[in-house]
Amino acid sequence: MSHLNEPEIIAKLPEFKNLGEEMKLASGESLKKVYVQKNDYIAIVGYKVLKDFARFTSHEDLSNDKIDYAGKSRIYLTGLKRRGVYRRASEAILRQYNENYNCATPDHQCMNCYNCFTYGGVIAIKDKTQAIKSRLKPTTSFSIQSDEEALIDEEEFHNIVHTDFRMEQAEKGEQKKPSLYTMLLVKPGTVFPFIDIIFNPTKFDLAMYLETLRRADAMGYGSRSSLLGTMETKIIAITDNLKISHKDLLNKIKVDEAGNVNITELKALFGSEVIDEKQLETLRAKLPELIEKHKTEIYGETSLKKSSKS
Ligand SMILES: [Zn+2]
Repeated sequence: MSHLNEPEIIAKLPEFKNLGEEMKLASGESLKKVYVQKNDYIAIVGYKVLKDFARFTSHEDLSNDKIDYAGKSRIYLTGLKRRGVYRRASEAILRQYNENYNCATPDHQCMNCYNCFTYGGVIAIKDKTQAIKSRLKPTTSFSIQSDEEALIDEEEFHNIVHTDFRMEQAEKGEQKKPSLYTMLLVKPGTVFPFIDIIFNPTKFDLAMYLETLRRADAMGYGSRSSLLGTMETKIIAITDNLKISHKDLLNKIKVDEAGNVNITELKALFGSEVIDEKQLETLRAKLPELIEKHKTEIYGETSLKKSSKS
């Protein structure tokens, strides 16, 4: 088998599904396909390596999120946080190919474009609330390294933190000291295995996801603009039959002191589901052509407006 062949898991996906299509129900009412729940999925399994300093926090004191999990205290990056960054990255991609595209989260969700059909949305209209569930579900990701190994607290980095905190200083010139927690940053090289799940998947979803990852990784997942938390993603396997857990990922991926990531044991668990990055690159490269082919369904109303103007 040549490397250029599509892996089986990708080959069997439909190219595109129009989830805006109306279906007639037995009751006589019609319903868009996006409101019909489907349980088929692909799970993308891989790991992200932190490229710069970051703070991953959902606390008011800005301490990093950590939890005892699978034998040690680990930093975690919630799936919700990743999904938020993915959605903004995906929005930017769609805008790149159609400048009239004006769906924007959270305030102007159109509920009729690819992004709304993929990441979900809620709009409240008089007497009627519409809600689309997200088809893309990143799960919470935990660091391979313990929080002690992953966090840095060195004098030279305090300057970064102080700059970051300027806005929170007291008004009358009194220096408000950041707490100990806020001094602690997650180090570059920290490894976060992840599982991202796409329900009701298509080749277009996967191509879009791959481009979204590139942008999201460069945008960063950190809490503050001064701490980008940029990452590099390696995809190990794609499966439609998820048998492994986050604990497997944490136990089977090894990171040595020099930061080398060893995934040999994990690959053995997946066997034929291990994916070659060159094959993924082939799919990602088809994205512009796929967007052009399905633009009416992808952009919904926005694209219609455009075509009536030109
Ligand atoms: Zn939309």
